[in-house]
Amino acid sequence: MKIYDDSKRVYVRQSWLGDAMICMERGRLQTMLPEFRTGSDATIMGTAVHAAIEQVLTGAIPPSDISEAAVSALEGLKETEKWKQTNIKPETMKPHTAAMAQTWVDHIMHKLDFGGRVEHHFNIDTERKIDINGEPYELWFSGTMDYIEPNGTIWDWKTAARKYSQSEKQKQSIQASVYALASVTEGHSTFDVQFNFGVMTRAANSQGQIVPVQRTGAHAKWVVEQAATLVQSATRIGYENSWLKNDQHFLCSETWCPWWSVCKGAYVSDVEQRWSLEAQ
Ligand code: SF4
Repeated sequence: MKIYDDSKRVYVRQSWLGDAMICMERGRLQTMLPEFRTGSDATIMGTAVHAAIEQVLTGAIPPSDISEAAVSALEGLKETEKWKQTNIKPETMKPHTAAMAQTWVDHIMHKLDFGGRVEHHFNIDTERKIDINGEPYELWFSGTMDYIEPNGTIWDWKTAARKYSQSEKQKQSIQASVYALASVTEGHSTFDVQFNFGVMTRAANSQGQIVPVQRTGAHAKWVVEQAATLVQSATRIGYENSWLKNDQHFLCSETWCPWWSVCKGAYVSDVEQRWSLEAQ
């Protein structure tokens, strides 16, 4: 979230909104302590696969070269990015990255039309106002969509440990709602918008899965309401005070929250967090 006093605008990135909806304090700490932010083996593998897909979609490489391009991107990211090892075996990073990229070609690529917008960045006015110190500020959404087909169907590539639940994504995906609103606002799509998650599972025998989600004007109004109430609460509390610390989700752990050591980890050790009778 960025507040611009000159233009009286608040910009909310879709990825920040998704994170802050899960734990507001995580959203605050991203801004206050950005130096804590690290990627992981899983995130750089995903970034490498995204880079290779982008090269195929823009015609920079043929689909037959995708695995090689993904592994080469991974090698570069391992050197240049700040990332930490999670539960992924280091020796599987390259083969699994290659397998996921190949899965995209084998199971997803032929389901979409080429010639659309790749890595499409957007900034849109939600037409909702937030009160900051008695002044109305415009609420804007920003983000980058992986791909919009010429017919307005939106795609997002996901590399994941396991397949997605369609019902969960249809019910809760903030990303799909924000992207649908952005695409309609910019004139690339019309409601009802089809948004597809193109999922590649992270394994030697990587599986492809297309998870279609539908977004209507009602979903768009709801996500603007959610964002406006979040931003309104956050700006009233201010960055100098803690926001709501929610640990009721899997990201709240030493492995998956970069701010663990200055938040829950300052109270509860990882051993206490993961205690079970069976492990004794
Ligand atoms: S440690 Fe948990 S409660 Fe604290 S910011 Fe991270 S996810 Fe939120």
